[in-house]
Amino acid sequence: MPNETRRDGPTAVHQKILILGGTAEARELAQKLVEDGHAVTTSLAGRTLDPILPAGEIRIGGFGGAEGLATYLRENTFTRIIDATHPFARRISENAIKASAETGVTLEQIVRPRWQKQPGDRWRPVSTLEQAADLLPSGATVFLALGRQYLDAFKPRTDCRFIVRMVDAPDKPLGFFDYAVILGKPASDPSQESDLMTAHGITHLVARNSGGPAGYAKIIAARSLGLPVIMLERD
Ligand code: NAP
Repeated sequence: MPNETRRDGPTAVHQKILILGGTAEARELAQKLVEDGHAVTTSLAGRTLDPILPAGEIRIGGFGGAEGLATYLRENTFTRIIDATHPFARRISENAIKASAETGVTLEQIVRPRWQKQPGDRWRPVSTLEQAADLLPSGATVFLALGRQYLDAFKPRTDCRFIVRMVDAPDKPLGFFDYAVILGKPASDPSQESDLMTAHGITHLVARNSGGPAGYAKIIAARSLGLPVIMLERD
């Protein structure tokens, strides 16, 4: 074998790695592992129309449960799987654990630490979306900074107005009594987030405790505006 010198040393074993992605961390990891000479494939669920693509190979779409993922790992002779999915993406993480156990392919998980409450934060922690919906006072104007699969619990609240942020435009009406859609990703600048909240007359923010820098600007913005945040915590 040629004695190549790479960033991870002359004797490094280059591996065939599947990253379960869809996050900024997954993209950073793919970049690093590709630079280190590994054969990297990132898997995306296909939820967004125009995702930012990581370095290396990409595959898009579900595997068909844990069985499908195990088959994919075997057929493509992966030696390592890294779960770098969003902390609230639970099903794919459970499937990765089962598929790893079934195939013997080593699984690593990138666990993003949750945000911690800071002085000035007015958080109301909840463990379900239904609890979050129940906590909203009548007449509230609510910023739902949640994925589209988290909206249904709020639809019975016909006494509130909802401002819903989405990456891609919905293909049908969302089914709220009173709502508006903001298209786009979260801003990284808290002042942009606070301008947006002020412009829409937001009185309450509903967010998940996702952790990480990408969605934190809205939390800082709510703090600076003194807004209550109904925070869906992780298990
Ligand atoms: P989920 O509920 O855990 O997954 C539902 C199903 O989607 C899985 O069973 C799997 O289908 C498929 N899937 C999920 N992630 C996949 C991936 N990386 N590659 C291939 N298939 C995947 O996940 P989710 O909450 O819908 O999130 C979907 C993706 O969006 C994740 O990759 C996550 O990292 C990313 N994301 C999610 C959020 C969020 O708020 N949940 C935020 C940012 C990014 P099969 O069973 O058919 O394999």
